[in-house]
Amino acid sequence: MSKYTLLLSCLCFACITACSPSSDGPLVDLETQLWIHGSPNCNENSDPAIQVVQYNANTWILRQSKCTNYEAPFMFLFFGENKALLMDTGATRDEANFPLYNTVNELISAWEKAHESSIELIVAHTHGHGDHHAADAQFDSKANTTVIGLKVADVQEYFKIDNWPDNQAQLELGNRTLDILPIPGHHATSIAVYDKATGLLLTGDTFYPGRLYVNEWSKFKQSIRKLYDFTLNHDISFILGNHIEMTNSPGKDYAMGTIFQPDEQALPLTTTDLAELNSRLRQSGNDPERIVFDRFIVFPIN
Ligand SMILES: [Zn+2]
Ligand SMILES: [Zn+2]
Repeated sequence: MSKYTLLLSCLCFACITACSPSSDGPLVDLETQLWIHGSPNCNENSDPAIQVVQYNANTWILRQSKCTNYEAPFMFLFFGENKALLMDTGATRDEANFPLYNTVNELISAWEKAHESSIELIVAHTHGHGDHHAADAQFDSKANTTVIGLKVADVQEYFKIDNWPDNQAQLELGNRTLDILPIPGHHATSIAVYDKATGLLLTGDTFYPGRLYVNEWSKFKQSIRKLYDFTLNHDISFILGNHIEMTNSPGKDYAMGTIFQPDEQALPLTTTDLAELNSRLRQSGNDPERIVFDRFIVFPIN
């Protein structure tokens, strides 16, 4: 992390109490935001285990250090007036190496103090892979906290989505409504989350600047089409996935398992990127194929 980013992150921490809740504009530019990106030698790495970036008055983006797990997943925290939603708990269970609960709890405590109200925390998952729920246990049996289970039935039940994956649902955080869309293909439990307040669309491991591992080809194609159709009718600022695996060179990814990504691509993808993927998938048949795009790679694994 550069000194500049560190300074920016500190300034944003200060903003928890200094900024008015109504100042909802972005505090950072996600297209130029630098993230902790590992080190050739993690013994000499001084990054925090979790980088915390405040996106706006009520939204935070967290990234796990590659020096705790090479997957370095992103996590997202949204505040409404009476509920907060944490999407994902990262790739490391151990609290000493990866203090996610403490990090989130500090953000919540500061938010509660600034707003003179208490908030309930919901912990949900973009999907059920282990690099996105490893720290769930840190949140179990904590006050005012609900951790949603990892099976399709758990996700369906909590969000009240019948007829999975065709139907969708909304989650009300209090003057902030999120749309929840099932998008299986990478994983059976994959969901997308759309936040109307910021225009952010979370797409988990289904669509991000990296290798889009496809387990079920036809479901993946349907889910990308569903996401594309959704973007036609909604204002989207950025599409944010869970990892970065691409370099800044078009079509070139980092090796699997790398712990140092000094030239990684920016996190956000755009509706143009999604339209390009959907259009190309419409031309593909029933057989899974590896397709290299400038900013991501479709990567069937069956
Ligand atoms: Zn995954
Ligand atoms: Zn993942």
